[in-house]
Amino acid sequence: MTALESKQALTLLGDDAEDTARWMVGRTSGAFESRRLQLLDTVPGVIDYYSEGTAALAADAYMDARAGVAGSYAAAPIVLDRTVKIRRGVAWASEPLVAGELDLTAARMAKLARTEMTRPYRDTTLRNGAADGMFVGYRRIARGESCGFCKALADRGAVFKQGTAYFAAHDNCQCTAAAAFVGQPQGPEASVMQYTASKRRRTPAEKARINAWAASYA
Ligand SMILES: [Zn+2]
Repeated sequence: MTALESKQALTLLGDDAEDTARWMVGRTSGAFESRRLQLLDTVPGVIDYYSEGTAALAADAYMDARAGVAGSYAAAPIVLDRTVKIRRGVAWASEPLVAGELDLTAARMAKLARTEMTRPYRDTTLRNGAADGMFVGYRRIARGESCGFCKALADRGAVFKQGTAYFAAHDNCQCTAAAAFVGQPQGPEASVMQYTASKRRRTPAEKARINAWAASYA
């Protein structure tokens, strides 16, 4: 599977997770507090299920990308513990049910499910990379609907070699990371602008420059 095919599989799984989350909201019944409890009891397990799936998908993609690279390494699926954050997210997504707003609740729940299940895919790629001596860095795989910022970061198949533990992501863009290895033909290393834009913290001056630069990719 190529990085793009793997991303397409991830997109399918994400659509499925969204559908399931919406369906679950529609299936709740009773008073608000009861419905919220039903969602708190069930949605985290569904997110776990999809998270296992995307982590396994990423581990496979990692090994496929690594084919022909020297030295042996076995990528393991990685799902970090997000229990508290996911429960908080489900509680937040359920809030509109107080006013009987089913559509808004379903939209929030779908977004939460998608965001959370996309995360283990990236974590699996980046954490295995950090443990693998032949890993050089990652490429960002954006998509047509991704924002200018994400497209700018993905431009030219640039490889991010520094600070690979952090990966800035937007809910709507669903960017993923593809691993690059020693000895493989690959894109140029990320530019100074690309590195600056992918930092966790930026100065106001950096932000202004990055926004102007990313706008040209939108
Ligand atoms: Zn984006």
